[in-house]
Amino acid sequence: MKKITIDAHAKINLSLDVLKKREDGYHDLEMIMQQLALKDVITIEEKNSGFTIDSNSKSVPLDSSNLVYKAYKSLSEKFNINKGIHIQIEKNIPIAGGLAGGSTDAAAVLKGLNTLWQLNLSEGSLMDIGLKIGADVPYCIIGGTALARGIGEKLTRLNRFSDRLVLIANPGFNISTAYVYNNLKLDKISDRPQTTTLLKHIENGDTELVAKGMKNVLETVTINENPILNKIKEQMLMHGALGSLMSGSGPTIFGIFNDPKDMSKCEESLKYSIKTVLSTRTV
Ligand code: ATP
Repeated sequence: MKKITIDAHAKINLSLDVLKKREDGYHDLEMIMQQLALKDVITIEEKNSGFTIDSNSKSVPLDSSNLVYKAYKSLSEKFNINKGIHIQIEKNIPIAGGLAGGSTDAAAVLKGLNTLWQLNLSEGSLMDIGLKIGADVPYCIIGGTALARGIGEKLTRLNRFSDRLVLIANPGFNISTAYVYNNLKLDKISDRPQTTTLLKHIENGDTELVAKGMKNVLETVTINENPILNKIKEQMLMHGALGSLMSGSGPTIFGIFNDPKDMSKCEESLKYSIKTVLSTRTV
């Protein structure tokens, strides 16, 4: 029986702007996406019949609500393939944290099954299929550093902003993405990311200017309601982070550091009060 293992990397948003609410209920976004070394590991194994999921984490749903099932189903139905599949999810990415954990697992399964079943689908076709599973899935397929527009599906690859030190802090409570968007007061946002300027800093590889210019308009909802998140940001800056931001709709806060010693001191201090604190880097 054939078996394949794929890395499924987490993402952070170096910026997130909401441009307008569309008639279909979605929002038009402008985001700079960045992949992290932090990853889940997905193993896809053929078996005689059926579809099963297993995980090292008790918080990962093992039923049809798991996005890896949706990825499997979309390919097996489209190409009428009835082979049995077992998927093992080694979950390292904090769940429901704004780090695209489910989307990246789904992207890994699309890529893995494309290879395992020899479908020869192009990256573009996989992205089209992925978009039906979730708005972040197309980005998770291309990875790296990218500008995302539309609902996240209009992607432009950027110079890689790799090997920057990133500290992740996830306080462990859940934030509903739908709630955050529904409560966003678009007309009241005064402080938006300067995306064009940030893109230049990324092109120049200027870590400090990128970190200092990072902005996420969804903080106006999530952080206003959860002041602990501001405390985490302050702690990161106090410990020498060049910049600190909330990823996606939260609640994960990350900081970009220059000095690994500063980052590890910050990690030690946050660990006392914050559920998950992880040091990683951009890829
Ligand atoms: P995004 O940044 O795309 O909004 P997220 O990082 O905030 O996503 P996920 O980790 O994808 O959130 O989890 C959101 C919900 O999705 C969880 O509550 C979980 O029940 C469900 N889910 C489905 N599939 C997965 C998966 N493979 N891994 C983690 N969560 C999953």
